Amino acid sequence: MAKIFCVANQKGGVGKTTTTVNLAAGLAKVGQRVLMIDLDPQGNATMGSGVDKRKLELTVYDVLLESASVKEAATRAEKCGYDVLGANRELAGAEVELVALDHRERRLKTALAEVAGDYDFVLIDCPPSLSMLTLNGLCSAHGVIVPMQCEYFALEGLTDLVNTIKQVHANLNADLQIIGLLRVMFDPRITLQQQVSEQLKSHFGDKVFNTVIPRNVRLAEAPSYGLPGVVFDPAAKGSQAFVEFATEMVERIRNM
Ligand code: ADP
Ligand code: MG
Repeated sequence: MAKIFCVANQKGGVGKTTTTVNLAAGLAKVGQRVLMIDLDPQGNATMGSGVDKRKLELTVYDVLLESASVKEAATRAEKCGYDVLGANRELAGAEVELVALDHRERRLKTALAEVAGDYDFVLIDCPPSLSMLTLNGLCSAHGVIVPMQCEYFALEGLTDLVNTIKQVHANLNADLQIIGLLRVMFDPRITLQQQVSEQLKSHFGDKVFNTVIPRNVRLAEAPSYGLPGVVFDPAAKGSQAFVEFATEMVERIRNM
């Protein structure tokens, strides 16, 4: 049965999408069956997997409004080795449309039950907000992966996210836990980053993943080719780190 993870952090530009597509590609590379879900109306994870968001007939929007199943709406990202349930701007409307509907926060969870046997991992790229879309992600998931940059304000933002996750855990999804904090865009030459990294470890202990994702320009270049870095340039330091992270995730779910 698939283990489902949200990649979430309500801050924008912290590396959620980069983490989602590269972890998906890394997991595919080590033999896992993966579905990547784009829950952000910007559709960056869709485009970054080589799927043209403007040409999609069915997206996660249709799944949330129950006009399509996950099987009908998902497409194969051939070069990447995983399936994509894509998103485009239409998804922004779902936020409003869902409000009037029953079980509005459980729509994605219900839809995913049907494909749980088809995948080992489902990864959900969340938008930079704690919105109804993110709530659908959190209600569906077994765990949350939180990418963060080791900067001073990173810790502040974490409090809101941790509180939201606690509330969802208490009221909506008793399975939900923070699987781990992933240090991304890390530059070991910057003393502050080392300090924040140490603080994270002393505060959150083994909730901090062992793998550290370095700042690496190849990861930033890859989306313009419609590929995750892991596929675009497998030899790059950042790509290797994501494959290492995929292996760490496979280990973690063994103990879940
Ligand atoms: P989010 O989804 O949280 O908004 P993104 O994954 O889109 O964040 O990343 C924000 C920007 O940082 C993008 O331009 C991306 O290419 C770049 N980026 C992300 N991770 C790295 C990294 N490890 N090294 C260099 N650039 C990165
Ligand atoms: Mg994003």
